[in-house]
Amino acid sequence: MAEQTEPAPGAQEFIPPQADTIDELRAAAAGCQGCQLYRNASQTVFGRGDESARVVFVGEQPGDLEDQKGLPFVGPAGRLLRKAADDAGIDPGHIYLTNAVKHFRFELRGKRRIHQTPDRVHITACRPWLVAEFARLHPQIVVVLGATAAKALLGPTFRVTKQRGELLPWPASAQHPEDFTRVPVDNAGKVADAPEARLLATIHPSAVLRADNQDVAYDGLVADLKVAARALAA
Ligand code: SF4
Repeated sequence: MAEQTEPAPGAQEFIPPQADTIDELRAAAAGCQGCQLYRNASQTVFGRGDESARVVFVGEQPGDLEDQKGLPFVGPAGRLLRKAADDAGIDPGHIYLTNAVKHFRFELRGKRRIHQTPDRVHITACRPWLVAEFARLHPQIVVVLGATAAKALLGPTFRVTKQRGELLPWPASAQHPEDFTRVPVDNAGKVADAPEARLLATIHPSAVLRADNQDVAYDGLVADLKVAARALAA
């Protein structure tokens, strides 16, 4: 049975104001009860990777394997994403990977856990973690993977299908740019304006795995990522 969506208090109260680092945020997120998704999932799956990465990828939510391992993008879609990044000229060893929603939402069918897309209430509840991560990252390119991540960062009217592969100003293109304009510049909490960056939306790698023609879908993902790679090199 799928769980009924309930109102959610949101993640903000679980974020320690004194948390300076991604590691501190990750530790705090382990106890988040900002929405109901923590109840059935195994654990919080926080972002990981190179914290000084020039490219930050934002996906939807952890999948089954990610939920079991506690790490994002370790399943088939994650492997495909790393290969696509590599093929596009983005070093997969120097990226940061996270999700808009940090717990796995699923429906039990027998013993199988079937992915369920997060609702707006989950995306909104979890957004403070994403905002907190961005306050500690310094990307030159933000790559949004799929509709859920796009909704979390750009708002409900953004259409990945229409605007994929297009470079947009970041954080100016965010639904609430003010959430992303200040970043700490040292561990004493000194803050500064976030450097100007760009955002690019594309499909989620799991959409490639589900596509009727995976080769065409994969080529499309790589083509979009090449736009990001060229912007980095410019
Ligand atoms: S999905 Fe996000 S807001 Fe909901 S419990 Fe998990 S970490 Fe907290």
